[in-house]
Amino acid sequence: VARVVELEIRRNAPIPTWFGVGGGADRLVEVREEEVVRHVLEADARARVLGDGANLLVDDDGVGEIVLAMKSLRRVEWLEDGRVVVQAGADLGGLVSQAVRRGLGGIEGLAGIPATIGGAVRMNAGGTWGQIADVVEQVHGYARDGSPVSFAREQIPFGYRRSGLEEIVITRVELRLSPGNPDQLRARMRHVMEIKKGQQPLAAPSAGCCYKNPVVSRDLADERGEIGKAGQRIPAGLLIDRCGLKGLRVGKAVVSERHANFLIPEKGATARDLISLMEEVEARVFMRLGVRLEREVVVWSRHVGY
Ligand SMILES: Cc1cc2nc3c(=O)[nH]c(=O)nc-3n(C[C@H](O)[C@H](O)[C@H](O)COP(=O)(O)OP(=O)(O)OC[C@H]3O[C@@H](n4cnc5c(N)ncnc54)[C@H](O)[C@@H]3O)c2cc1C
Repeated sequence: VARVVELEIRRNAPIPTWFGVGGGADRLVEVREEEVVRHVLEADARARVLGDGANLLVDDDGVGEIVLAMKSLRRVEWLEDGRVVVQAGADLGGLVSQAVRRGLGGIEGLAGIPATIGGAVRMNAGGTWGQIADVVEQVHGYARDGSPVSFAREQIPFGYRRSGLEEIVITRVELRLSPGNPDQLRARMRHVMEIKKGQQPLAAPSAGCCYKNPVVSRDLADERGEIGKAGQRIPAGLLIDRCGLKGLRVGKAVVSERHANFLIPEKGATARDLISLMEEVEARVFMRLGVRLEREVVVWSRHVGY
């Protein structure tokens, strides 16, 4: 029996992001059931996917493609054996706390990373204390032509801050967690949060780290001494800092004094200020150290080149 799926299309809708700047969507669909994704992709294969907007910068004049807003797709089903089936829009932080409460470990090291599960899998979110790829068993979603796809863990080319799933709209993920002591898991979660609070400007709007930490192809040093060795992954923040760029400003966007890989919009900043600041940082790091920084932040724009 054919079922009619109603699309709630909003016009000129704002796109909420953690940067708190930038334009909106000409058309935005609130996804409340997985099927909606297929219908939208059949209408516009270039539809864009919005999670929590924690790694996203939208240009000031917004975007023309339909935006699939995923945060209402948030069912979480806890299975008996440590597995959990999570819809893509569910909040990662909420899932981490729930898992800890249930005595399930494996994601407590992701505490403090703002994300939907779909966004976290797509970016392979993580850091010093693990990455989401460590616990992913299955990913379900739709290909660009609207056909349903499922991938087992071994089929997904997870890497550092990447999943290889860039062309897939993720709708549901199965994770496998392992039994642990809730008190110990909670202590680990708090420890991670404390360290982050000490290192990162978490009170200011940002998208977290703006750049991936690059692997450099030759030994790097400057007048202050060694920066890193060939083949090592070096913190992008260290490279930006060693180029003297903390506090660098374009318009109302500024490189954080606290952590050089955080770009911060001050009151009144535009998305263009941030994009221009990124271009400036990239150019200077390349000129000074010969390293091409790769953006971790995703930029949406209607203009050529983005
Ligand atoms: C204060 C702060 C701290 C942060 N710390 C960390 C950190 O420690 N480690 C880390 O890895 N990241 C960190 N980030 C970045 C961010 O949290 C992650 O990249 C996160 O995975 C983004 O998820 P999201 O749901 O917000 O995705 P969005 O920002 O909404 O989208 C990011 C990209 O994923 C795509 N996407 C989103 N949902 C889906 C889906 N369902 N299917 C397919 N594609 C999708 C979008 O199209 C876009 O290309 C931080 C960000 C902030 C603001």
